[in-house]
Amino acid sequence: ATPTALVAGTGSAAKAGILIRDIETLERATDIKAIAFDKTGTLTAGAPEVADLYPADGVSAVDLLSHAAAVETGSEHPIANAILARAEGSGVAFKPASDIRAVPGRGLTGMEGQINIRVGSARFLEEAGIDTTRLGKNIDLNGAGTLAWVAADQRLIGAIRLADAIRPEARTAIAELNRRGLQTIMLTGDNQATARAIGEMAGVSDIRAGLLPAEKLDAIRELAHRTGGHVAFVGDGLNDAPALAAASLGIAMAGGADAARDAAAITLMRPDLRLVPAALDVAAKTRRTIR
Ligand code: ADP
Ligand code: MG
Repeated sequence: ATPTALVAGTGSAAKAGILIRDIETLERATDIKAIAFDKTGTLTAGAPEVADLYPADGVSAVDLLSHAAAVETGSEHPIANAILARAEGSGVAFKPASDIRAVPGRGLTGMEGQINIRVGSARFLEEAGIDTTRLGKNIDLNGAGTLAWVAADQRLIGAIRLADAIRPEARTAIAELNRRGLQTIMLTGDNQATARAIGEMAGVSDIRAGLLPAEKLDAIRELAHRTGGHVAFVGDGLNDAPALAAASLGIAMAGGADAARDAAAITLMRPDLRLVPAALDVAAKTRRTIR
């Protein structure tokens, strides 16, 4: 590898908004056959907003928001930002809960006085023995958007629907990858209904929902195995770091977590998914240049 060629290759890539962080990893990234995407923050803008509040019978929307916000003060998840913004924006009073614990890919718990508040996926509440089906008649389970369920001790107090917009260029970018004959896959911790809505809009060939962070990693390992080590993964979150490191080519989305950038061979400097096919080209070109 001549230093000059290396600088030239990475220099032109940088101009296009593609930062090559790790030349060694790039060396492994020959003809990619499958490319997997995280959903939240990668295929979507990652700045969800509260779209609906579904308080349980006997609970007010204000109380639902206030309890959820108290616990979300302990989280940096985009869902937490959305709930806190809505509570603050509508003047709902809340005090940060104490003893807040985050369970990655599931949600959070915290204490408000003697009361244990739990916020997260349906699975997270069900695992604690809380029946989420009881809200059934009040809620449109097939609507678009992620649901954050809220319980006080063992009582379900409601759910909050969050809507996160798909990135406007997602469909074009995925279409280009499909056109090249790559298998495109979306991996997400979110529920089936939301995953299907976003995945179909984006045009990915395969959708896998309800995955815990460790299961995303397993999915990448399985894809690596099946493609003979020719899988790329695009992600932005702290949770995505292991999958980014395990992929033949890890691509970190602009604006994501430091840990994601550190684990990826390539970082996109603009949040534009059309840079993903460009990054595959850059990886191939840089490799040719440095050989
Ligand atoms: P994704 O794979 O879409 O980036 P995550 O793995 O971060 O999603 O989260 C999976 C699910 O866990 C979310 O859809 C949500 O239901 C729940 N969850 C995770 N963190 C939180 C949080 N801070 N507040 C409420 N729910 C959460
Ligand atoms: Mg994400």
